[in-house]
Amino acid sequence: MIALPALSALLAATLSLELVGVNAHGPHAHAHVAHKRQLAAASSGSASVAAPTTSATSALAATSAAATVSTAASAGTTSAAPASGPATTAAAGSAIGTGSYSVPPLESISVGMPSGAIPTLTTTYTPGASPTYLSGAPPLPTKFAFSSADWPELDKIPPTDTDQVKQWMKELDGHDIPDITPTQDGSCAGDAAAAAQAQERGWWTCGGYTSGNDIVSCPDKMTWGVSFDDGPAPYSSQRRKKLLQYLDDKDISATFFVVGSRVISYPDILIAEYMAGHEIAVHTWSHHPLTAMTNEQIVAELGWTRHAIQTVLGVTPTFMRAPFGDIDNRVRAISNAMGMRPIIWTTGPGGPFDTNDWHVPAGSVTAQEQYSIFQGLLGNATLMDTGFIVLEHDLFEITVDLAVGYTLDAALNHKPAFNLESIGQCLSLNAGDLYAETATTNVSTVNVTSSGTNSSSAAATGGSGSSGAAPRTAVSVSALVGVGAVLLASLL
Ligand SMILES: [Zn+2]
Repeated sequence: MIALPALSALLAATLSLELVGVNAHGPHAHAHVAHKRQLAAASSGSASVAAPTTSATSALAATSAAATVSTAASAGTTSAAPASGPATTAAAGSAIGTGSYSVPPLESISVGMPSGAIPTLTTTYTPGASPTYLSGAPPLPTKFAFSSADWPELDKIPPTDTDQVKQWMKELDGHDIPDITPTQDGSCAGDAAAAAQAQERGWWTCGGYTSGNDIVSCPDKMTWGVSFDDGPAPYSSQRRKKLLQYLDDKDISATFFVVGSRVISYPDILIAEYMAGHEIAVHTWSHHPLTAMTNEQIVAELGWTRHAIQTVLGVTPTFMRAPFGDIDNRVRAISNAMGMRPIIWTTGPGGPFDTNDWHVPAGSVTAQEQYSIFQGLLGNATLMDTGFIVLEHDLFEITVDLAVGYTLDAALNHKPAFNLESIGQCLSLNAGDLYAETATTNVSTVNVTSSGTNSSSAAATGGSGSSGAAPRTAVSVSALVGVGAVLLASLL
């Protein structure tokens, strides 16, 4: 099993290597595809072949790849090999899967699978363009240019003795930040003392405890909140094209929880997501467990990611998701104080709506096992009185293939039908409410706990912990696939 810090290292290592891979391939031309929703096309300006990866990302790769290549290689996600033929086979015994997006047969999606060729974005957006779906949105800023002097080291917890962090710390003034000692490593198993206090800490990773202010589901029954974590990913620029194409073809908007280190590495991918009408939210700078950090480190993680997104897009997210779901009352109080309301994926009757997609590139679950787990969750979804938020990842080629070819397709073909929406949509928020610059609602006080009453301002209870769903999460899922007593719910 992969411990949390080790998994973070794996992610960082893989991404670093992939930066090199993308640079080596260069751009490919692709036809522009009109957006059916016409969210962005009107003002996006050019439809052109994307520029090759910038020199900035080359520099980033050069500085970080060398030490991590061996780890990345073992993850089986390198992109050197060409595509290995068509992929049209659906999952056994079902009608799902598609040949339209070059998704391999389910049984072929595994560690070490050959990677496809790397196209680049087919639509680019010029500085000054504005998303038409966001009323009052600021224009896209000047094209991002990376300078190492402007940013903390990639994938490392940023230093706290900087002017920026000291300034952001002032946002905590006047807020009640619980005096909770950091956990050892964000895991239940790694800190027995903290685990014994899990309920009073409101620690989600260790018992599923939530606060009344957490977004934990979509209010309306049979509504599926679509979310992808950990991008924008260097290597998945290829697959992200696939993912964005799929979402566009199916007229689905998603919420992307992005990592700051990835944002400044692949700003054009973030812009493509944003301009296409998808929602952008914060997923920290380095993707380490937040409960294990000091207050200053948490502020630095959230602040730098928020700053990266604002620098690239011109807007500041009002929502965040903790890596691994590792949040407690201290972390959520800091997040709320900084204007970012926490969102977690839903825990349903059969466990968390974590598709466990990341287990496949990690090598601990096969794609078929993962899909079997997922089908069980779908069955439970129909038993719920509310909708649910689903966790998927756009970081790895494998997880994107699973989403495009299988899980999202299964959702669309499910009987009775699910309504697939971004999280903001499922909460009945205005598109502008996802960003501080365009919000017309104070999202920190929006009541999203009951169906159809999203416009009131009743619910926010701040940091006081309350018992969430029973901690049945990991055990039931683990038992399904025989991977042992790993905290599936807490990983990613
Ligand atoms: Zn994550």
